[in-house]
Parts: sequence; structure tokens; C-alpha cells
Amino acid sequence: MRPLQLHSLYYYNIITTTTLQLNKMRKKIVAGNWKMNLDYNEGLSLFSEIINMIKDEVTGKQEAVICSPFIHLHSLAQLARGYHKLALGAQNAHQAESGAYTGEVSAKMIKSVGAAYVILGHSERRQYFHESNELLAKKTDTALNNDLKPIFCIGETLEEREANKYFDIIKNQLVEGVFHLDETQFSQLVIAYEPVWAIGTGKTATAGQAQEIHAFIRNEIAAKYNQQVADNTTILYGGSCNPKNAPELFAQPDIDGGLIGGASLKSRDFVDILKVFN
Ligand code: PEP
Repeated sequence: MRPLQLHSLYYYNIITTTTLQLNKMRKKIVAGNWKMNLDYNEGLSLFSEIINMIKDEVTGKQEAVICSPFIHLHSLAQLARGYHKLALGAQNAHQAESGAYTGEVSAKMIKSVGAAYVILGHSERRQYFHESNELLAKKTDTALNNDLKPIFCIGETLEEREANKYFDIIKNQLVEGVFHLDETQFSQLVIAYEPVWAIGTGKTATAGQAQEIHAFIRNEIAAKYNQQVADNTTILYGGSCNPKNAPELFAQPDIDGGLIGGASLKSRDFVDILKVFN
């Protein structure tokens, strides 16, 4: 009995340690999506407040990402220079490398001003700009070719949830949007689960509802690639996340942070959400 028990304990410890190590490797991220808000000066002053608060108050290894309008990016990147807990992202990028696309901004341009991330597939772009999974697959390829990490958004509408179609919708968004990538490319992605009915509505998914979908997404990634890739993928929750509900949401085993809209426009709220990972 005794050696068996010791062996069991030994293997238990290895498994637990490995799981903990894998979890540790997964980055915790709180990303703010400013959307089409704040003029240039307002953006700079909000960002300065956020930097100062992060310097004083953030003690963990979590990363803050600010996804601002294009016009702010270069100046914000200058302000954040040398500060590794804070990165910048755009909210969209064109699928072509360059060319005659008046009014558009390329992934290369975004990268050149110092951004590291780009949000792709936000439900507002899917809805108002008719961005399909097929188009988003192209945008993802172009972003990765230019060394930008996509924060790839997926999520169901209220209608789809009520019709019990949400697992199929989410799986389809993954399959058509990002599962054409090879393992190395996929490892550059951050996935954001954002139920459309929770965005900007004040209705948050319960921690249980969100965890259910996050676990489903991680399982799909494991089935497509392997368990290690799945364990290393950061999966964010987005949809009316605030300093009150963030602690319960972020305590779920498969929720690795948040994509924050409204609350990212208030420095105090954004940094309080970030501090959940302290
Ligand atoms: C978002 O736009 O990605 C979002 C989550 O918005 P909000 O936090 O305002 O619901």
C-alpha cells in the first residue's frame, strides 16, 4: 500500500505542478476598448492617469492593453515606452497589406507606431460594417504577417442564445475565423468571448455562463491543436465588465481577464479591474 500511496502522491504533485505552471504561463490581460471616444487631448490625459495609477498600484504580472482610436496610438506608445506592463492596440486593421483603399489603415502602419495588438471581429464591426468570418480570417493573417497580436472577438447575439444556438455560433466563428492558422500562428492570438447581448447594455453574463463558454472555447482549441496550446491561450471575457463584477468573473478557471468598453474610459474603474490580478 505504502509505495503505491507515495507514487500516487508523486504523480499527483507532478500533475498539479504542471497544471499550475501551464496556468502561470497563460498571460492575464485587461484590455480597454475606447471605441470612437475621446479627442486627442482627452485620450492623452486619460492615458497619463492610467499610467500613473498602474505605476503606483499594479503589483502583479498582468498586462494592460489600451486599444485607442488610430489617431492616439503613436503618442500613447511614446508615453508608454519602456513600461512593460502596458501595451497598445488598435481596434481594426485592413486585410490588404497596402494599396488604394482610401480611408483605411494597414496592419503595418499600426505596428510602425508602436502598437502590439489589434482587436479583430468586435461585434460592432461584424454588425455595422458587415465583417464576416471569411474577411476576419484574412484580417487575422495580415495582422500576424505584420507581427500584431489579434484580440479575436467571438460571441453570440441574444437571439442566438435564446434559440440555444450559441455553442454552434461560437464554434463556427473559431473554425472560419482562426482555425486555419497553424499552431505557431494561433499561439499569438488572444481570444475574447463577448456575448453581444452583454456589450454596452449593463447586462453581464453570470460568472457561470461565462465560464461555461470559456471552457468550451478552450476545449475546442485543444481538439483542434493540442492541450498545451489550449492551456496557453489567454481567453478574455467582455460585456459590461466593471470593478464590481470583475473579481467573480476573473476567479473562474478559464477566464484570463477582460475586454473592457465603457469602464475603460474611467481611469479609476479600469485600473481597479486590472488590480483584480494583483
Ligand atoms: C466591448 O465593447 O468590447 C465591451 C465589452 O463593451 P462594454 O464593456 O461597454 O460592455
